[in-house]
Amino acid sequence: MRVAVFDDHRIGVIVGDGIHDVSALAGQTAECGTCAVGGFIAEFGPRREEIREVLDETPGRPLSEVVLRAPVPRPTHVLAAPLNYPDHQAEMTDELGARRLSAAELGFFLKATGSVSGPSDPIRIPDRPSRRFDHEGEVAVVIGREARAVSRGEALGHVFGYTLALDVTMRRTPEHQEERSMRKSYHTFTPLGPWVVTADEIPDPSVLSLRVWVNGELRQDASLSDLIVDVPDLIAQASSVLRLQPGDVYLTGSPAGVGPIEPGDRVVVEAPEIGRMELDVVERGW
Ligand code: MN
Repeated sequence: MRVAVFDDHRIGVIVGDGIHDVSALAGQTAECGTCAVGGFIAEFGPRREEIREVLDETPGRPLSEVVLRAPVPRPTHVLAAPLNYPDHQAEMTDELGARRLSAAELGFFLKATGSVSGPSDPIRIPDRPSRRFDHEGEVAVVIGREARAVSRGEALGHVFGYTLALDVTMRRTPEHQEERSMRKSYHTFTPLGPWVVTADEIPDPSVLSLRVWVNGELRQDASLSDLIVDVPDLIAQASSVLRLQPGDVYLTGSPAGVGPIEPGDRVVVEAPEIGRMELDVVERGW
C-alpha cells in the first residue's frame, strides 16, 4: 500500500493514479493536521481491513490534482546513518586525505525534524557562497511500532514502510568544522516522499535500489544490499539507545556519487520499488 500526506495534511492511500482520503480513520482534526500521521501509522496494522473498506467505498481523486506533502511531516526522531556504503566511505576518504569511520563505528546521528520537507517543496540553499552543498540520495525507513531494545531478528517487524529521502549536506572545510547535525539540518534539507510503500510489499529491504540524477546526469546508482550496516541492524542498534516511535524516520545512508547542487538544478531520486521524487533547487529567501 502507498500511504501519502496531501494538501492540508490529509492522509491518503494511493491506488493506481488515484488517492483516497482516509483521514477520518486517523481521527484527524484541523488542529492536529500533522500529528495525526503518527497515530495512523501506529494503528495501521490492526485497522488494515477498515482502510481497505474505505478504499472500496470512497472515490479516489486523481493524484495529479493534489499536492503531496512529506509522508511523515513531523517525525519524533529523524535518525541517519553516516558513511554506510563502502564506495561512499572510499570517496570521502579520498577527499579529506584520511580514512573516515563508517556507520559500523559511528552509529547514527540526528537531523532536526524541522529540516523535513515534502516532494512538492524545493530544496532551499542558504546564501553562503563559500560553502558547498551536496545531495545525498537515500532510502529511508519509517518506523511503525515502538521499538525498544529489539533484536536484529525482530527489527523488520517494527517497520511501517519505506520512502525516498535526500540528506542535503553543507560540507565541512578546513576553516569550517560545524557539527554534522547542524550542517544537515537547514530548512528543507530533508526532503521525504513521494509516499511510504508499506513493508508488506518490501519484506526484504536489501532488494531496494536507488538512483539519483542532477539535471539529467546520473550521479548515484546503488543497491541496499551494499549497506555496511543493514536495515535490521540499524533499527536494533538505535532501539538500544532510545525508544523508536511510530513515524520515526531513519535515513539509511548515501552511496558514492554525492556532488554539489545549486539554485537552478533539478534533482531526481528514484527507487523502482518505491517511486520517484523530482525536486527543484532554489535560493533560500531568508
Ligand atoms: Mn547521509
